[in-house]
Amino acid sequence: MDRRHLISTGAAMGLGAVAGCATETRAGTAKTAFDVPQPTLPVAGSAELFPVRRIYCIGRNYAAHAREMGSDPNREPPFFFQKPSDAVQFVAPGSTGEHPYPPLTKNYHYEIELVAALHRGGRNVAPEQALELVYGYAIGLDMTRRDLQRAMGDEKKPWEIGKSFDRSAPIGPIHRVAQVGHFTQGSITLKVNGQLKQNADLKQMIWSVAEQISKLSQAFELKPGDIIFSGTPENVGPVVPGDVMQGEIAGLPVLSVRVV
Ligand code: MN
Repeated sequence: MDRRHLISTGAAMGLGAVAGCATETRAGTAKTAFDVPQPTLPVAGSAELFPVRRIYCIGRNYAAHAREMGSDPNREPPFFFQKPSDAVQFVAPGSTGEHPYPPLTKNYHYEIELVAALHRGGRNVAPEQALELVYGYAIGLDMTRRDLQRAMGDEKKPWEIGKSFDRSAPIGPIHRVAQVGHFTQGSITLKVNGQLKQNADLKQMIWSVAEQISKLSQAFELKPGDIIFSGTPENVGPVVPGDVMQGEIAGLPVLSVRVV
C-alpha cells in the first residue's frame, strides 16, 4: 500500500514534472507570431539601453500652467495620464530630431518637461523613499494635440487622442542619478526658432518628483522601466512644420526637435 502510494506519487510527480517540463518547454521555445520591438532609450555614458515599460504623465503641475489651462492651481490632487510606451521618440544630443506633425490637429502644442526613469517599482511608496526608485532623468516633450484634448474634455470624454498618439514623447537619453543627481530645482526652458517661450524653475512644481512617485504608486503598481513626465511650466503654445524646438534643463543636454 505504502509502496503503491509511493509509486503512484512518484508517477504523479513524474507526470507532473513531465507535464511541467513540457509546458515550460512550450513556453520557452514558443515564438510570438511576429516581432514587436521593446521601446528603449539610450543611457548616457553607457552601452546599455533603458527599456520603457509605461509612460506616466502628471497634469497641471506648475501653478501658472494650471491657471493658463483654466483650473485652480491651489494644490488640487495630482492627476495622471499615460502615453503608450512606443510614443517615445529618441533624439540624440547634438542632433535635431525630425518630428512629424501628427494628423487630425490644427493646434499642436509643445510642453517641455523633466522625465524621471524608474529602475525599481513598488506600491504605496512613501515620499521619503520614492527617489530610491529613480534610475535617472531625461528631458522630454509632452507633445499635445491641444484642440483635440480640449474638445474631448469639453465633452467629458477621455482626452487620450490629444495626448497619447504616435511619437508624442520626443526625449533625450537617460542620465543616471549617479552622474547627475536628483532634480529638485534648476532652469527649465523651451525656445521655438530661437525665441524663448517657456522659462521656469523645476522648484516651481506643485508636486515634486518624489511626491508624484508616491501618489502614482497608490493608483498603480510601479515597475522598473516606468518613466514619468513631471509636468510643464506655463506658456505652452503651438508649433507648425518647419519650427525648431529647443528644450533645456540645467544639467542635461539640449533637446532639439524640428517639426516636419
Ligand atoms: Mn504635460
